Amino acid sequence: MARLELDHIVKRYASGYAIQDVSLEVGDGELVCLLGPSGCGKTTTLRVIGGFVTPDSGDVRIDGQSVLRLPPERRPTAMVFQRYTLWPHMDVWHNVAFGLELRRRPRPEIEKAVKQALELVGLPGAERRHPSQLSGGQQQRVALARALVIEPRILLLDEPFSNLDAQLRVRMREELIAIQRRVGITTVFVTHDQEEALSIADRIAVMRAGLIEQVAAPSELYDRPLTRFVATFIGTMNLIDGRRTADGSIQAGPFRVPLPPDAAPRSEGSLSIGIRPEDFILTGPNGTGVPGRVAHATDLGHYRRLTVTLEGEITVTVFTPKSQSVTTGPCVLWPQRVLVYDGERLLTIVEPRYAPSSV
Ligand code: ATP
Repeated sequence: MARLELDHIVKRYASGYAIQDVSLEVGDGELVCLLGPSGCGKTTTLRVIGGFVTPDSGDVRIDGQSVLRLPPERRPTAMVFQRYTLWPHMDVWHNVAFGLELRRRPRPEIEKAVKQALELVGLPGAERRHPSQLSGGQQQRVALARALVIEPRILLLDEPFSNLDAQLRVRMREELIAIQRRVGITTVFVTHDQEEALSIADRIAVMRAGLIEQVAAPSELYDRPLTRFVATFIGTMNLIDGRRTADGSIQAGPFRVPLPPDAAPRSEGSLSIGIRPEDFILTGPNGTGVPGRVAHATDLGHYRRLTVTLEGEITVTVFTPKSQSVTTGPCVLWPQRVLVYDGERLLTIVEPRYAPSSV
């Protein structure tokens, strides 16, 4: 097991910054996902850790030791790439054994290690097959075995399942977590798929334009997104622009949200509120809250997704449980949990107390 530290990494190309200033710590045996839109610097960050890209400044430390001067093959890291990178002319055994042969390990040791690695990824007995005889999922399992067989201290995965169909992806994710937990290996996993990150990561680092916006456990990231970008990138968020009123509240569309006294906005103009779709209480037209109109309802199995129009041509998305009957037409919404943003940054979270007058 190993602890990884990225310390103020910067990487600039002629076209601009790939990484502006990234610092991150990954604990022993932890699985951290780098998540963000295309071009935000995820792959470059992973390549810096693996030694395939040299940063302009900053340091990469593993268990406190800088590895910056070591070439990839001398670092205690192993990488699995997006596309299958098996050698087509070699059988599975030789593909997996390659790293150990390079390190001139004795033959019996290699035999044993390859066998164990293939068992670990659920492909026992596949030694003599060729990559062309394997499915996409099996090829990525072999790639994983090839990475793990050298017993790296840090496993680096760059969208390893993005070429697989949706069902297989989910299964491979589950298998990967099981393997990662069993081996206890410190892992950095790059993805642009928030569902993938939320389902596998101990913590997620959300990246944007070469910077990390927030690093947190999945539930924390969902419940307390520190920036508007994270708020909209993870899950669905209704964001409504607002302004400060004379009595110290925020008026955002039809919602008036009292601000706690200790939450003084820094900027004057750019206040906004964010409400998750499941944080609304939806009642009939005589309920407590803000009047609206259910314009559209979609049944999504265990819950309903509603489009509700409010005064001022504001439209919000609302999720209601399947047990609640909903008809299109007039309704009332009460926001139970409101995130207040001052410019880009989270200012405070307000939970307006619900006191139903009638239903
Ligand atoms: P994706 O999800 O599309 O793979 P990413 O978040 O992994 O994107 P990177 O591949 O790290 O992003 O790229 C970050 C930025 O750096 C991009 O603007 C990219 O064009 C640029 N970049 C990356 N590698 C190079 C390179 N070798 N030369 C020039 N520019 C590069």
